[in-house]
Amino acid sequence: MSDIKFFDKVVIVTGAGGGLGRAYALEFAKRGARVVVNDLGGSGAGEGASSSAADQVVAEIKAFGGDAVANYDSVEFGEKIVQTAIDNFGRVDILVNNAGILRDSSFTKMSDTDWELIYKVHVDGAYKLTKAAWPYMVNQGFGRVIFTTSAAGIYGNFGQANYSSAKSALLGLGKTLAIEGARKNVHVNVIAPIAGSRLTETIWGEEILKATSPDYVVPLVVKLCAEENKDTGGVYEVGASWFAKVRVERSEGYAFGVDKDVSAEDVASKWDDICDFSNAAPAESIVSTFNAVGKMVGIDLLAA
Ligand code: NAD
Repeated sequence: MSDIKFFDKVVIVTGAGGGLGRAYALEFAKRGARVVVNDLGGSGAGEGASSSAADQVVAEIKAFGGDAVANYDSVEFGEKIVQTAIDNFGRVDILVNNAGILRDSSFTKMSDTDWELIYKVHVDGAYKLTKAAWPYMVNQGFGRVIFTTSAAGIYGNFGQANYSSAKSALLGLGKTLAIEGARKNVHVNVIAPIAGSRLTETIWGEEILKATSPDYVVPLVVKLCAEENKDTGGVYEVGASWFAKVRVERSEGYAFGVDKDVSAEDVASKWDDICDFSNAAPAESIVSTFNAVGKMVGIDLLAA
């Protein structure tokens, strides 16, 4: 495969002042992109603000001859970040929705602020950026968008009701935008990274932090944002040099027949069949759901 380059491309990376975002921004710039380095510069819990994080990464990029501009807006004002790309570089081609915070707490103790702030940054932020960048991408017939979910968003995790549900929202957003963008060569993928950063440094020891350098996540994001990349709507887990794709599986299930009444006791009596994955199949789309139920009850739900 030829080298992946971004010479004519403008890339926005949110939360690029540190951790994963910084690593993405540096790599895109090294590969020729003009980069908007966005970072609010607050704490890991979303408090405060500072321009120094974004400025520092822009300085690093300029030091090796790359082209970048800083933006210090919160992703909640995503349209301003997209405007920074337009004002400075005249276009936007690639958007990496990466900015994030944590406000972990058991659900019992979780405050409304913990819930709302997480949604503002992860969900509203990704929405605002993507909504503002989308028309440019659709009109130019090229766009690459990354959403950042988390294993917590795919599987759930104790103490992360706010974060995991926000990260799940990005799975749905990514899947739907992949469908809507496909005809216009706007490809949308979702990643669930594992990386040593300030969000994880209090949880992991030195050895794990070293093994999970953000640099191991960068190659997947670069690959998915390449002009050559045709994959869209994917969900990938990545970290520590490991790259994997995640999909949903559906059991064959059990159908009683639409000529029968079905009680809760009937469902309980067939529970093992309903939950039997020995004939499971990938569940890839709403169409596959209609096909699955149609096959089991003998009705074509897609015949309108
Ligand atoms: P990080 O704290 O090092 O980087 C996040 C950056 O986002 C920070 O520089 C922060 O200032 C910035 N930011 C926070 N709120 C912002 C806002 N409102 N507007 C603009 N910038 C803002 O953390 P990281 O580990 O590099 O995380 C990057 C993304 O990856 C996050 O979305 C996180 O949830 C996700 N993630 C990380 C891991 C991991 O193992 N590190 C796992 C799963 C998901």
